[in-house]
Amino acid sequence: MHAEKFLDTARWGGLAYISDWQETLAGTINVTDPANGNVLASVGLCGAADVSRAAKQARAAQKDWARTRPSRRAAILNRAANLLEQHGAELASWITQESGSIHSKAMIEIEHGALFIRHAASLALQPTGMFLPGMDDRTNYARRVPHGVVGVISPFNFPLVLSLRSIAAAIALGNTVVHKPDPRTPISGGIIIARIFEEAGLPKGVLHVLPGGADPGEALCSDPNIAMVSFTGSARGGAKVGEVCGRHLKRVQLELGGKNALIILDDADLDIAASNAAWGAFLHQGQICMATGLILVDEKIEQGITERLVAKAQHLPAGDPSTNWVALGPIISDTQVETIQKIVDDAVAKGARLLAGGTHDGHFYAATVLSGVKPGMLAFEEEIFGPVACIVSFATDEQAVELANRSEYGLAAGVISANLGRAVTLGDQLNVGQLHINDQTVNGGPYAPFGGRGKSGNGTRVGGPADIEEFTQWQWVSMKSAATPYPF
Ligand code: NAD
Repeated sequence: MHAEKFLDTARWGGLAYISDWQETLAGTINVTDPANGNVLASVGLCGAADVSRAAKQARAAQKDWARTRPSRRAAILNRAANLLEQHGAELASWITQESGSIHSKAMIEIEHGALFIRHAASLALQPTGMFLPGMDDRTNYARRVPHGVVGVISPFNFPLVLSLRSIAAAIALGNTVVHKPDPRTPISGGIIIARIFEEAGLPKGVLHVLPGGADPGEALCSDPNIAMVSFTGSARGGAKVGEVCGRHLKRVQLELGGKNALIILDDADLDIAASNAAWGAFLHQGQICMATGLILVDEKIEQGITERLVAKAQHLPAGDPSTNWVALGPIISDTQVETIQKIVDDAVAKGARLLAGGTHDGHFYAATVLSGVKPGMLAFEEEIFGPVACIVSFATDEQAVELANRSEYGLAAGVISANLGRAVTLGDQLNVGQLHINDQTVNGGPYAPFGGRGKSGNGTRVGGPADIEEFTQWQWVSMKSAATPYPF
């Protein structure tokens, strides 16, 4: 069946996409299923020399691509979106196996991935400039022009969407792209993308997909043929990327981690609020930058919210999402399981109450509820990237604001209250890039400018109106009808 063969490993197994499917200089890596350790496929592992080769080819292809009619660029992107949807069921099963996603999360990636590509296609057809007020008798205009080659670096947790949101916008606006997905998820974060664009008729050289780790990532940041780097990942990785890009005077977009507060006020509906908290804390095992990392609850309703959350946690099964109906799949790696356990143990040792979970069976970490979480505990301060609901109680709305704003991060926040005015007044005081009134913190989509404050990024945004600002730059053009003489 054609649908089964779209991602046929015979085409790309052991290879990377450098203008076409190619062997790499650094060898291959096996991609494993975090639920059971099974090897799913192998892909080409890229090193600095592969990055250099791809970047040269991307630079050579860029001028022609930028001159390609916008309607043609948009048509190719729309075809890629159609292919993603058409082969969605097959592709989602790769996402499930490679990244440990439950089926519905994998399907969100397919659906949102297609939306991001279509949004990018629409960018290609936007006006690109403006006429400027005259300073003399010449004509002046300013237009947005592509940067050239954009390097994209993406993480493992939402590999398809987080890669596509930068790649599609950069390409739509006339850049070419060298993309490095996380080496644990190179298929969902890279091979699928290369295949849909290849099949959609993207000219050779416009997109390159190079699986690999930090080394090829750093090579992207220093390569002279790459003009901009769009990075999504941890604050630690982002700081390093920002440093190397700064040294090479490259534009850099940093979309980093978060410790996101959901504030539940005393007039909230307890069942709805608890369900929001559970979704925000447990979806994709908590491995989401926007995950609800702190559940700040008015002390008057703390008991009611806690009981409901514990009941939910105890009934959310964890297991292999490819073979069972589960709510929670595996954590991506042993190291990450150890980090989660360390944070939970630290909280308990410092006086938090462990009311559900707190244990794991291999990579399957049970949905966990901690109450009495306080500043000074790792569970209060750090991004956990695991299915841990951290309940913190507060006495007044002012105290809730103070607790939420203690974080060095500033990605997303949610406020739930029956009183819209009160929720908005409180929300206005939060230091975040995304504020959701009457919703939890995990929200994203192609039409909103997404990004964070503080340690969550460097003030850049991706999506919606921000894409033109990020992936193009101004050029001033002045024109005289004929050259005129100067005093010397
Ligand atoms: P990570 O920073 O370790 O890795 C992310 C990517 O960066 C990977 O492709 C990795 O190979 C690469 N990388 C790592 N070090 C690098 C370096 N020195 N130079 C160049 N590239 C390097 O992140 P992770 O822990 O695997 O991913 C989870 C993190 O990503 C979390 O902190 C999460 O909050 C964050 N994240 C942020 C967003 C967002 O939009 N703000 C979205 C998803 C994930």
